Formats: sequence, C-alpha cells, structure tokens
Amino acid sequence: MERVYKFCQSCGMPLSKDEAGGGTNADGSKSIKYCSHCFEKGQFTLPEITVQGMKDRVKEKMAELGYSPIVAWFFTLNIPKLERWKKM
Ligand SMILES: [Zn+2]
Repeated sequence: MERVYKFCQSCGMPLSKDEAGGGTNADGSKSIKYCSHCFEKGQFTLPEITVQGMKDRVKEKMAELGYSPIVAWFFTLNIPKLERWKKM
C-alpha cells in the first residue's frame, strides 16, 4: 500500500493547502508526496537546492504570508526529516 503524505516531502507545506492539489509526475498524474511548488512533471523545480536553501526559502515565503519568524523557524526544523533530504 502506498503511504499517504500530509506534508510535502520537500518543503513541508501541508498538501491540503496546495492550491494546485499537489505536484505532477512525469506521466501527468498527481504526486502524493510533493507539492506543486517543489515538483513538476516528475522533476524538482529546484533540483540544486540544499536543505539549508530550502529552509531559507520557506522562511522567506512564510514571512511573506505574515507568519512570525519564530513560527517560521519552528516549522523549518522539520524540513531535514522529510523524505527528499533523508539520504543526504
Ligand atoms: Zn513542497
């Protein structure tokens, strides 16, 4: 059975909050693992990004959305535990 993910396994955003309903696989089907910001047509939109880069990006994005730096910092603590970063 396939695992159901609640959060994007690249940036940690709740997949339920993804306005596009998730990223897309190479065959055009929906990705159950990654959001539309991270994953498109079977590829990462930012293939070179590091886990630190992703943290910074998410913090920036959350600041734009009006979250306090503390909340953003707390949220990004979980990013290294996501599947995309586990092997590194
Ligand atoms: Zn994502």
